Amino acid sequence: MKLETILVRSGSEVDPATGAVAPPIHLSTTFEHTPDGQSLHGHVYIRESNPTQARLEAALAAIDGGEAALFFASGLAAGAAYLQALAAGSHVLFADDTYHGFREMARDLLPRWGLTATAVDMTDLEAVRAALRPETRLLWAETPSNPLLKVVDLQALADIAHRRGASLAVDSTFATPVLQRPLDLGADIVLHSATKYMGGHSDVQGGALVLRQRGALHGELTHLRTLTGAVASPFNAWLVLRGLRSLACRVERHAAGALAVAEALDGHPALETVHYPGLPHHPGHDLARRQMRAFGGVVSLAVRGGRAAALAVASRVRLFTNATSLGGVESLIEHRASSEGTASTAPENLLRLSVGLEHPDDLVADLRQALAAE
Ligand SMILES: *Cc1c(COP(=O)(O)O)cnc(C)c1O
Repeated sequence: MKLETILVRSGSEVDPATGAVAPPIHLSTTFEHTPDGQSLHGHVYIRESNPTQARLEAALAAIDGGEAALFFASGLAAGAAYLQALAAGSHVLFADDTYHGFREMARDLLPRWGLTATAVDMTDLEAVRAALRPETRLLWAETPSNPLLKVVDLQALADIAHRRGASLAVDSTFATPVLQRPLDLGADIVLHSATKYMGGHSDVQGGALVLRQRGALHGELTHLRTLTGAVASPFNAWLVLRGLRSLACRVERHAAGALAVAEALDGHPALETVHYPGLPHHPGHDLARRQMRAFGGVVSLAVRGGRAAALAVASRVRLFTNATSLGGVESLIEHRASSEGTASTAPENLLRLSVGLEHPDDLVADLRQALAAE
């Protein structure tokens, strides 16, 4: 079946108890079992598994073409579980512009977990090869990246990882399964912050790991999630499940809007450059054309005049809201260096746009008036 069909239909079986077409939300924390503790209905306790989460996980696995998926309380919780499942002594090679939360995790927590981490520009495959160590167990890529929209070659990275007996994990939050299929390109695991496009309405937090193979790792990750309690509420699982139904439509519109905004502002005299993989001058453009179905809904603007000019532009927008996060129906603007804090490598003149589902003409008009005074 085609992706659009899987997105609408997976995990959407009619409720056998009532015939309900929309899935029920089971809030029960505990499930009847036999006197000696054997599960009667597939679930025992909410922290281990629950019916709403199980529906969502079946859908997530089907959508990304993996054998299994796990849902967590947040994208960071999902990533933390995966990193904690690595054997002590392992080395993790991160992309240099990995999501700042994971960079802080690498700096502050990985050493305590007995792991080492280094970062490399993953657009440079020679540099990636040179950064490998005998104990490298994982390459952690993110594409397109946050906030510079760097695009890395997943097939080539999977090849490099596998030759060394390491795995490739891909944070595919910006692309979603609609625009990019990391498992088809050789990745072993995909991470999504469901807080972004999957939820899609800025009202739910969650994170997903999708595994190419069910294997022992699935059991280990489930065990880790149970023991650390990094589970989402059934209501949050349900909201993400609902978001998946319209994901293809929304992401296509987000991407079309972002392309329109990027093209309209490219070359604007108040801007040094527009970072968007859909623009022919973007260094990852050709690769993105091969690797993605469209270029995503995030655009970053490098404003002439540095930090002060960028903040002035952000203060003049009327339609865009100054707020962090992305992937909701409403357009957001953010000065990333201010919001990322200590681990930030975002340029001081950079404004990140999450292009929402408003008409792109209105968004372009708003940005033009905000840039006009510069
Ligand atoms: C937001 C985000 C995360 C973290 O997800 P949370 O749900 O906020 O924990 C990870 N990676 C990327 C690319 C993100 O944008």
